Amino acid sequence: MTDAPNLTLFNSLTRQLEPFEPVHPGEARVYTCGPTVYNYPHIGNMRAYVFADVLGRALSHKGYRLTHVINITDVGHLTDDADAGEDKMEKMARAQAQSIWDIAAHYTQAYWADIAALNIRQPAKWSIATDYVPQMIEFAEKIAPTHCYELESGLYFDVSTVSDYGRLARAVTDEGEGRIEAVEGKRNHADFAIWRKTPAGEKRQMEWDSPWGPGAPGWHLECSVMSGDLLGFPFDIHTGGIDHREIHHPNEIAQNQAFCCTNGLDTPSNSGAKLWMHNNFLVERSGKMSKSSGEFLRLQLLIDKGYHPLGYRMMCLQAHYRSELEFSWEGLAAALVRLKRMIIVAERLAEAEPAATAHPKLAPMLETFEKAIGDDLNTAIALTALEDVLAAKKFDPGVKRAVVEAMDAVLGLDLFGTSRADLRLAPKAATITELEIEEVLARRKQARADKDFATSDALRDELAAKGVEVMDGDPLGWEWKLG
Ligand code: AMP
Ligand code: ZN
Repeated sequence: MTDAPNLTLFNSLTRQLEPFEPVHPGEARVYTCGPTVYNYPHIGNMRAYVFADVLGRALSHKGYRLTHVINITDVGHLTDDADAGEDKMEKMARAQAQSIWDIAAHYTQAYWADIAALNIRQPAKWSIATDYVPQMIEFAEKIAPTHCYELESGLYFDVSTVSDYGRLARAVTDEGEGRIEAVEGKRNHADFAIWRKTPAGEKRQMEWDSPWGPGAPGWHLECSVMSGDLLGFPFDIHTGGIDHREIHHPNEIAQNQAFCCTNGLDTPSNSGAKLWMHNNFLVERSGKMSKSSGEFLRLQLLIDKGYHPLGYRMMCLQAHYRSELEFSWEGLAAALVRLKRMIIVAERLAEAEPAATAHPKLAPMLETFEKAIGDDLNTAIALTALEDVLAAKKFDPGVKRAVVEAMDAVLGLDLFGTSRADLRLAPKAATITELEIEEVLARRKQARADKDFATSDALRDELAAKGVEVMDGDPLGWEWKLG
C-alpha cells in the first residue's frame, strides 16, 4: 500500500502515543504474556491475543520483519498476582486428580484451538516456561547478590534496589496491592518471589534443584527470562492485558533493570522493552467471565450456541483495544451479521485474480485504512474503510479483491477463507441437521413454484417447530436461521 511506514503506538510506560522506531532497523520484536494453562481461557483472555495478533499483523503490513513470542505459563503463577496464595496449576491438578503435566497439556491444546478458531497467526515461537528453568536459575543467580534476599519460603526481589519501581503502574503506595503480611520477613510490601522453595518435608509435582534449594520459579521471572533470551534486551514491544500493568509488568521491569545493570527508566534499554502495550478488558456484568462460575464464557460456549468464533473477533475489532468492551449476546449477534455481509461480497470476488495495482478511486479508502491502523491500531475506523471498498460499485472484481485482501491481512477476518455456509453454525442443542433443513427448503421451493401455498406453509411450520426460522426475502440472502 503506501510507502511511509507510519505507525504510532501508545506506550503505557510514558502514557503517550509514540512513533514506532524499531531497535533493530526493519525488524519488530514482540513478546506477549501468554496464558496460565490451569483452565480454559475465557473470551476476555482471548481479547488479549486478538489484540497482540492485530499488532503483529500491523507491524508486518507496515513492512517490519516480525518476531513474535507468546509464552505458556505452566508453572509458578499463584492464585494472587501479588505473590500470595497457591500455585494455580497445582491447585487445579489436585482438584481434578491429575498430574500437573496432564493439566498443562490439556489446557494448552484448548488454548491453541481458540487461537486457531479466532484466526490468530502462529507466533514465531510459543515459549513454554518449564523449558526455561535452567535459564531462570542463571538469571536469578546473576541478580541475587545485589537485588535479592533469602527467606525461609524463597528468594525475594527487593524492589528498593531499583529506581522508579512501579512507574508503569503509577499506583504503588504502601497501602497498595502487596501483602507484606502474607510472607514474614519481606522488606517492602511490593517485594516478590524470584524462587519459591518447596517447604521442608514436602514434595511438589513440579520442582527443580537450585542454589536456594528445591522449588519452582516465580511467575514474573519466567517472562523476563524468556523475553530476554528469545528477543534480546532491549526488544521492541511487550504486551499483555491491562491488569498486568499493575504488578506483573512492573516486577518484570524491575528484574530487567537488575539484570541489565541499568537503572532509571529514562532510556528504553532500562526496562527490557521500549514499548509496553496493554489491552483493556472485556467486561460482562453478570459474572459469566469468572472461571469459577459453572458455565463461563469460553469461546466453545459461543460456538455451542451457534455463533461463529470470527463473530467474536469482529466484536473485538469494533472497539479500540484501549477501551473497555462490554460483552452481550446482542452485540455478538450484530458483529456476526456485519461479518456475514462482508463475506457475502467477498464470495462474489472469490473467483477474481487479484489485480497488481489499485484503482485511483479506491485510494481515499486505502489512505483512511492506513491512517487508522497507523493511529494506534484504530481497527474500528479501518473496518469502515474495508466496508467502503466492499460496497464500491463498478470496479473490476480483481481490483477490489486485491484491496480487500490487503486490508484483511491486517484485520484477520479470513474473508476469503470463510464461506457463508461456514458461518452458519448449528447450535449444539439443535434437533435438526443442516442437510435436513436444506432438503425441506428445497421441497418448499418446489411447492411455491407450483403455487401450492398450503404445502409451502406446512413445510415452514414443520421447520419452525424444530427451531428453524425461514427468512423469505432476507436482504443477506440468508434463507434460514436456527433460533
Ligand atoms: P492469564 O491467563 O490470567 O494470565 O490471562 C491471560 C491474558 O488475558 C492476560 O494478558 C490478561 O491480562 C488478559 N485478561 C484477563 N482478563 C481479561 C479480560 N476480561 N479482558 C481482556 N483481557 C483479559
Ligand atoms: Zn508475563
